[in-house]
Amino acid sequence: MAFDSLSEKLQNVFKNLRSKGRLTEDDVKAALKEVKMALLEADVNFKVVKQFVKDVQERAIGQDVMNGLNPGQMVIKIVNEEMVRLMGSETTEIALRPGKELTIIMMAGLQGAGKTTTTAKIAGKLKAKGKKVLLAACDVYRPAAIEQLQINGEKQGVEVFSMGDKNTPVNIAKAAVEHATKNDFNVLIIDTAGRLHVDEDMMAELIQIKENVAVSQTILVVDAMTGQDAVNVAKTFDEKIGIDGVVLTKLDGDTRGGAALSIRAVTGKPILYAGMGEKLSDLEQFYPDRMASRILGMGDVLTLIEKAQNELDEEKAKKLEEKMRKNEFDFEMYLESMSQMKKMGGLSSILGMMPGLGGGKMPEIDEGAAEKNMARTEAIIFSMTVEERQNPSLLNPSRKRRIAQGAGVDIAEVNRLVKQFDQAKKMMKQMPGMMKKGKKGMFKG
Ligand code: GDP
Repeated sequence: MAFDSLSEKLQNVFKNLRSKGRLTEDDVKAALKEVKMALLEADVNFKVVKQFVKDVQERAIGQDVMNGLNPGQMVIKIVNEEMVRLMGSETTEIALRPGKELTIIMMAGLQGAGKTTTTAKIAGKLKAKGKKVLLAACDVYRPAAIEQLQINGEKQGVEVFSMGDKNTPVNIAKAAVEHATKNDFNVLIIDTAGRLHVDEDMMAELIQIKENVAVSQTILVVDAMTGQDAVNVAKTFDEKIGIDGVVLTKLDGDTRGGAALSIRAVTGKPILYAGMGEKLSDLEQFYPDRMASRILGMGDVLTLIEKAQNELDEEKAKKLEEKMRKNEFDFEMYLESMSQMKKMGGLSSILGMMPGLGGGKMPEIDEGAAEKNMARTEAIIFSMTVEERQNPSLLNPSRKRRIAQGAGVDIAEVNRLVKQFDQAKKMMKQMPGMMKKGKKGMFKG
């Protein structure tokens, strides 16, 4: 399985770290040296490794250890976060054009990377989303490619547009667009010809298609088994024709995994999907966070870290509850509750969940404005002195004017915030029982 060896090595490094109660700076440096070796052996790009280790080290040294974790676990947490970031943090979807507009996807890649197979796999995914998909067979150099696409298209239940191998790829692509437009297709995926190596003819052909057809997404297919070659191929394709995303195939194989960890950092382009086998259903959306936990192979520790994070929020929430109950709610708390609310999907969703408060019975609080203006509200609170935050009754007109200036807002906005704050405070008072829900309570992150 991919990443096995990397995973094993990293787990050994972490086992050593976790066995220590305390960590010195030297411990961290020594551990990261091993992480560096493990990544290099997994064929991760050299520059990427260097930067990665530097980033982790900077964060790990001098950072406070979170409640509920030991220093070793704290380092694992940082490595995990940086690894997710390395792979792009967010999951990226293929961008489709809005409404009925035809989305044109051009597939590119070297021969054998899995382009034709992936084309049919993607068609299946889009069809499942309710799109009418047309495939265009523009690989005219490998006769078997057209037939392969036809067979796969049939399996997926999508139409394949072909003009045999006696026409030029660009002419076939143009005719396919016409056919797709006339017949109300939503998506056209153009399967192009690969070559054994990056070569000028292939690039010229792809550029020609792009110049003649309104391609909206260029997706490059690379073989994870080829490691750094895959990364170099991606870089070259991006420089020559411009790509929007990458599909990394054969991650089911015994690859060392370097490509998955380097492509995003080297090219700046996201991995969209991972090919996990030869069957047409073997295509998985690429989730950087899931991939990182798979590489680190530390489900248990990562869960623990998550829990510690929640507990941290719970601790804050408890303090908040306490203050509210004593009616000591102040602007510092307001700020804190705002950040907790943001995590929970906003004020309205929280109020909606409160028993007896959904369905029109909400107290009169201007929640829409509160959510929209959170950033401005924060700016206003940040412009208050600590004393003012803790004792809002100090806020006389001259102080309000100063705060408005500091936050770059109108004084009316400061007044509005103070009014909202008073309303929120009143609301808290009216609902004494509502904060005492323990684990399922309101302010758990
Ligand atoms: P093309 O030349 O780039 O069009 O490549 P093909 O689509 O013909 O694929 C080349 C070979 O790789 C075929 O045998 C495919 O079945 C195989 N293949 C493609 N994707 C994957 C994958 O994700 N995993 C595995 N194990 N094999 C794959």
